[in-house]
Amino acid sequence: MFTSIAGRAVVVTGGTRGIGKGIASVFARNGARVLITGRDDEIGRTAADELPGEVTFLEADTALREDCRRMAAIAEERLGGVDVLCANAGIFPDSRLEDMSEEDLDAVLAVNLKGTILAVQACLPALRRSGRGRVILTSSITGPITGFPGWTAYGASKAGQLGFMRTAAIELASSGITVNAILPGNIATEGLASLGPEYAAGMTAAIPLRRLGSVDDIGYAALFFATDEAAYISGQTIVVDGGQVLPESPEAMAAAG
Ligand code: NAP
Repeated sequence: MFTSIAGRAVVVTGGTRGIGKGIASVFARNGARVLITGRDDEIGRTAADELPGEVTFLEADTALREDCRRMAAIAEERLGGVDVLCANAGIFPDSRLEDMSEEDLDAVLAVNLKGTILAVQACLPALRRSGRGRVILTSSITGPITGFPGWTAYGASKAGQLGFMRTAAIELASSGITVNAILPGNIATEGLASLGPEYAAGMTAAIPLRRLGSVDDIGYAALFFATDEAAYISGQTIVVDGGQVLPESPEAMAAAG
């Protein structure tokens, strides 16, 4: 039995839909007090109403330092601090290298990589005060382990998060803060649905467990990193992908039956 995380102050960037909403839901169902962020006010308010437990929404763009600072200040005001920061907000536009504009590249790096760093930086004083601060990044298998045409910038941003994590874990260790990352495979979210049914079907066929992941699958991995029992784990990754990175070839999947 893990020690309860009830009452902990949790911030989830990009918590208004998809994986972030799933993470927020798992924490709220376990008694945490949660602040979710996103850029769309209406979707965000609706999500906070739909989620169980104590969840509020703040409109904030994680790519902007001022918004991240405001997020930390609001967490202070509403939750009394930050025990857990889930830096989850991310975008994954399809852009082949030969067509990629500088704006495309900047947008992905600004949200996924710079936004991760800005969110952590803004919450640092509160995480230090917590005495058991946890930073949990949503990275991806794409970039750190695998590749997919159209996602060079995305893959770079997701691998970049891990580079950030490893040094941040060392810098923050003396404050009792751990920094870890979840590497989701293909998770059934609104964002993934926007890639089309063929993409989802192709991915499902490549997953040994023969299903897309659920947002709860990621939420529970995040919850584990937040527990007292995970206090000695820092700078590490956990792949949550139904075994997708394991088959050496399509033949390996076929042979599995
Ligand atoms: P999603 O369904 O599109 O949801 C993305 C969330 O992030 C939304 O709440 C969105 O709200 C928010 N967001 C986007 N840009 C933001 C910004 N600049 N500032 C604040 N919030 C922002 O995506 P998802 O599939 O859940 O993906 C979430 C994370 O998981 C991403 O980091 C993604 O790279 C990672 N991931 C997903 C999968 C997958 O299969 N779904 C796999 C691997 C990794 P607004 O648009 O209103 O801002």
